[in-house]
Amino acid sequence: MTDGVVILGGGASGTLTAVALSALPDVGPLTLVDGAGAFARGVAYSTEEPRHLLNVPAGRMSALPDQPSHLLEWLAVRGETPDPEAFLQRRLYGAYLGELLGATGSRVQQVVDHAVALAPDGPGLRVDLAGRPSLRARAAVLALGNFPPELPPGWTALPSRLAWRTPWASPEDWPAPEAEVLLLGAGLTAVDVVLSLLARGHRGRIHLLSRRGLLPATHPPRMLAAVPLGPRTPRLRALLRMFRETARREDSRAVLDTLRPELGALWRGLTHPEQRRFLRHLRPWFDVVRHRLPPEVGARIGALEAEGRLVRHAGRVVSIAEQDGRVALRYRPRRARTLAVLAVDVAVPTTGPAMDVRALDDPLVRSLLDSGQARPGPHGLGFATAADGAVLGPLRDRLWTLGGLRRGDLWEATAIPEIRMQAREVAEALAGQLRTAGAG
Ligand SMILES: Cc1cc2nc3c(=O)[nH]c(=O)nc-3n(C[C@H](O)[C@H](O)[C@H](O)COP(=O)(O)OP(=O)(O)OC[C@H]3O[C@@H](n4cnc5c(N)ncnc54)[C@H](O)[C@@H]3O)c2cc1C
Repeated sequence: MTDGVVILGGGASGTLTAVALSALPDVGPLTLVDGAGAFARGVAYSTEEPRHLLNVPAGRMSALPDQPSHLLEWLAVRGETPDPEAFLQRRLYGAYLGELLGATGSRVQQVVDHAVALAPDGPGLRVDLAGRPSLRARAAVLALGNFPPELPPGWTALPSRLAWRTPWASPEDWPAPEAEVLLLGAGLTAVDVVLSLLARGHRGRIHLLSRRGLLPATHPPRMLAAVPLGPRTPRLRALLRMFRETARREDSRAVLDTLRPELGALWRGLTHPEQRRFLRHLRPWFDVVRHRLPPEVGARIGALEAEGRLVRHAGRVVSIAEQDGRVALRYRPRRARTLAVLAVDVAVPTTGPAMDVRALDDPLVRSLLDSGQARPGPHGLGFATAADGAVLGPLRDRLWTLGGLRRGDLWEATAIPEIRMQAREVAEALAGQLRTAGAG
C-alpha cells in the first residue's frame, strides 16, 4: 500500500525516473517494482559477461542529463580510467546505475513482483501484482523496457533446450561446445550471444540468419566529427536522397551521428505512410549504421567469419521442426525461389525486443489496452503518449511512461542519452501534476 508513486519496471528507465523523483518535493513514497528483481540493471546491464560491452562510448553514457561528466567522474573515483571514448563493460555500467539507485536510500522501496494490471481507483490507481496484494498509488510510471523477442510460428512446439524462448538463457541451457547453433537475427543481441558462446569455449559453427544477412556496423576507434548535411526537407524520399548523397563523400556513420539529435523530429515530421515505408524497407539498413559494435567486438566477429566459424545467411524463416533430436529450420533465401534447410543442435531467437504492443501477450500491456486505459502509439510501437510522457487516455493525469513504450512517438527512445532526458521530464511533469491535484 502506498499513497505515492509506483514505478513499474526497475531497469535503467525505472531507476532513473526513481532517482529524478527522489530529488523532488511532495511526491510521497516511491515504490519501484521489478518482476525480475533486476533493479538498476534491467535487461541490458544485468549481464555478468565481461565481453559484453556498452555500444555507446563512456563520454555519452552519463545517467544524469545535467551532468554530462558524471559517469567519467564516477570512474575516476573508483580508480578506473575515465576515457570518454572507451566502451565500458556493461556490468560496470550496471554497478554505476546500482550506486545511483542505492544513493536514494530508503526513499525508494524495491518490490520484486510482476505487475499484471492497472486500473483507476478513486483519484489514484490500483496496481495488481502477480504474487502479493495490490498497491495503491496517486500516480504510476510504466518503465517496462525490452519485451522478449517475437517467436516465429511453430517455435514453441519444440522443447526449449532446442529452441530457446529468449536470448538470455540460464547457464544450464548452454549448448555443448561443439554444437552447431543457429541465431535468428543478426543484430546486437546476436553478437551478445556469440560472445557468450565464445566465453564458454564454444567450438561449433554458429549460423546467423536474418532477412538481409547484414551485421551491425562497427564504431570507429575515435568518435567521428560532425559532417555538413544538405537541407532536411521533411519528406522520406528527400531525406533518403540527402543521406545517400552525403554518404557518397562522407562516412555514413558520421552522417547518421550528425543527424542523430534531429531523428525524433524528422520521424514525427513524416506522414504515417512514410513512417510505415521506412519501417518496412529502410529500417534494417538504418539499424545497421545506427546500432554499432565496439571496434574490438567488430574485429572479433570479422575474424570468426573469416575462419568460417560464423556463417551468415539472408532469408526468411518458413518453418521450424524437431528432427532426430535436432532442429530443422526451413527458410527462403533472399531473392531465391527454392527453400533451403539448416540443421542445427540449438536455435536461439535474437531478433531483438518485440516492439508491437498489439501483438504482445504481456498481461499488463494486454490489460491496459483491453480496458482502454492506453491505446497503441503509431504503428503499434508502444503507447500513444503526450509530449511529457503521459499515457493518452482516461488516466492521462496519473499514468506516465518512458523508454521503449514511446518508440512510436519519439522513434529514438531507448538508449541512455534519450532515457535520462525522458526520466527527468516524466518526473517533473508527474510532480507538477501531483502538486496541482494537491492544491485543488
Ligand atoms: C543487450 C542490450 C544492450 C544495450 N546496450 C546499450 C548501451 O550500450 N547503451 C545504451 O545507451 N543503450 C543500450 N541498450 C538500450 C537499453 O535498452 C537501454 O539503455 C536501457 O537499458 C533500457 O532500460 P529499460 O529500463 O527501459 O528496459 P529494461 O532493461 O528492459 O528494463 C525493464 C525492466 O522492467 C521489468 N518489467 C517489465 N515488465 C514488468 C512488469 N509487468 N512488472 C514488473 N516489472 C516489469 C523487467 O523485468 C526489466 O527489469 C541496450 C539494450 C540491450 C537489450
